[in-house]
Amino acid sequence: MHDDANKGPENTELDTSRHFLRQWIEADLAAGKNDGTVVTRFPPEPNGWIHIGHAKAVWVDFGMAALFHGRCHLRMDDTNPSKESEDFVEQLKRDIEWLGYKWDAFFYACDRFEEMWAIAEELIRRGQAYVCELSQEEWKAYRGVPTEPGRPSPWRDRPAEESLALFRRMRAGEIPEGTCCLRAKIDMASPNIHFRDPVIYRIVDLPHYRTGTAWHCYPMYDFAHPIEDALEGVTHSMCTLEFEVHRPLYDWVIDRLAEQGRLVVRDGKTIRPQQREFARLNLTYTVMSKRLLRQLVEEGHVDGWDDPRMPTVAGMRRRGYTPAAIRDLCERTGVSKYKSLTDLALLEWCVRDDLNRVATRRMAVLNPVKLVIDNLPEGAELVAHAPNNPEDPAAGSRELRFTRELWVDRDDFMEVPSKKFHRLTPGNEVRLRGACLFTCTHLVKDASGAVTEIHGTYDPEAVGGNPADGRKVRGTIHWVSAKYAKTAEARLYDRLFTLEDPMSAPSGNFLDALNPESMKTVTAYVEPALLEAKPGEPYQFERVGYFTPDVHASRPGAPVFNRTVTLKDSFKK
Ligand code: ATP
Ligand code: MG
Repeated sequence: MHDDANKGPENTELDTSRHFLRQWIEADLAAGKNDGTVVTRFPPEPNGWIHIGHAKAVWVDFGMAALFHGRCHLRMDDTNPSKESEDFVEQLKRDIEWLGYKWDAFFYACDRFEEMWAIAEELIRRGQAYVCELSQEEWKAYRGVPTEPGRPSPWRDRPAEESLALFRRMRAGEIPEGTCCLRAKIDMASPNIHFRDPVIYRIVDLPHYRTGTAWHCYPMYDFAHPIEDALEGVTHSMCTLEFEVHRPLYDWVIDRLAEQGRLVVRDGKTIRPQQREFARLNLTYTVMSKRLLRQLVEEGHVDGWDDPRMPTVAGMRRRGYTPAAIRDLCERTGVSKYKSLTDLALLEWCVRDDLNRVATRRMAVLNPVKLVIDNLPEGAELVAHAPNNPEDPAAGSRELRFTRELWVDRDDFMEVPSKKFHRLTPGNEVRLRGACLFTCTHLVKDASGAVTEIHGTYDPEAVGGNPADGRKVRGTIHWVSAKYAKTAEARLYDRLFTLEDPMSAPSGNFLDALNPESMKTVTAYVEPALLEAKPGEPYQFERVGYFTPDVHASRPGAPVFNRTVTLKDSFKK
């Protein structure tokens, strides 16, 4: 579907780390396994929007294929009809492309239902599967606990013909949900509970978003997944640690496919997929299960799956995070089998690190107070110069008009300064970024005593804020001209939850850990040029933070800014 040159953002991005997955694949290649081609897959279930945890799996699956000049498939693991939809499929594709990856082939697992069915029937014929009529509770009781052997189902040794007939009635919808299922006949005494005649098909009376009402029973993940891998010719199937205990079952299914002569043959070599597991990415101050994210959306706690506070890929994009920053986080957290929790501050560090390189600098005042330059006549205008991005000389600079009345940030002012405060305070000289040096002489207050105007004088000799005599001016603040500034809404986001692990909320309900102040809206005074800002473009509001126009709320010429991240780094290395 896509050519090789298009694979992955940087084909070398995994080069520096020789983690265990990489060593595993290298060893297989050295041993001449399969046909020497590495084929991986990313297999999301289209039942929600992908989140940063999925992005980690995408990075592993696509990254490893790219590293070994192999192929990565995108597969919809759509074998469970509840909650799946084509809209989720389309969104998944958009998100993966935005992350910077291109799949070499695209599959729907449900396109193989007929073949899976044939494989299951063959198991029955070979005495390797049977229809079991135990209820779910009975089935669990028979299965037992790992420390003692389980008990065989009374249906375990029924004739294949009987199982086949029932299995077909299950498919046709003639048998009610929950009354029977198809089980693989493996080992009721195995210490691995997943080996004790696991269920491989169950009745689900729900329409499927692609196969409609054609099916009334569906394959279980443990049965479907190895089949999907095998039939696609996947060589290396990587997933998260919770599947480690399922691996013997994965291998069991692959063995049965080999017996049935169904493994893919490439270049005369039989392709036998193998599974390995790595630790999930977990982040502080958020939840990552799709079930919980869905609840946040459906109950209206957030503004949709792509709310900028959500850990979804689309939410992060809307907020202004970059694909490079997300890949950087994956790289820095690495691949291991060690269960860990990643500090959200590390992700923010990665975002800042990338945006610092690429963001256009602009001035905006979020908490305005008026500043009046008494020795600059009404109507006089000076021109200030400011670089568009000091990290990138090619970005050039811009002219800013500088007038008698300005807006500055109230947070840059203290009437009675604390010890280390070197910004606006009566009697102190500060630099107005790119423009001049200003000394506060007096204040104007309202009836309640609140400061409404900061008055003072500027030094006409200190052009651009550089004093002719070289005297030291410690504070530099940002400003906009009151005459020329425009207003724009800015949405200030904070963590969605107040607890590192929202699931540990004392009430037992993660919703109780929602941060009531996770979004504040302010009206900012901004440089006129910011009105032209478009969603997707990164800006640094100097000294404040990184911002980008919201994709839904912005109108041409009237952007609404999302704060991507503040400039303050809270990450402790
Ligand atoms: P969720 O619990 O969020 O619904 P899931 O595992 O059920 O996640 P899938 O769509 O089945 O969601 O996942 C697709 C792939 O993404 C799987 O291989 C899964 O292991 C991987 N994955 C999901 N969450 C994470 C995570 N936090 N870190 C790394 N990989 C993940
Ligand atoms: Mg899943």
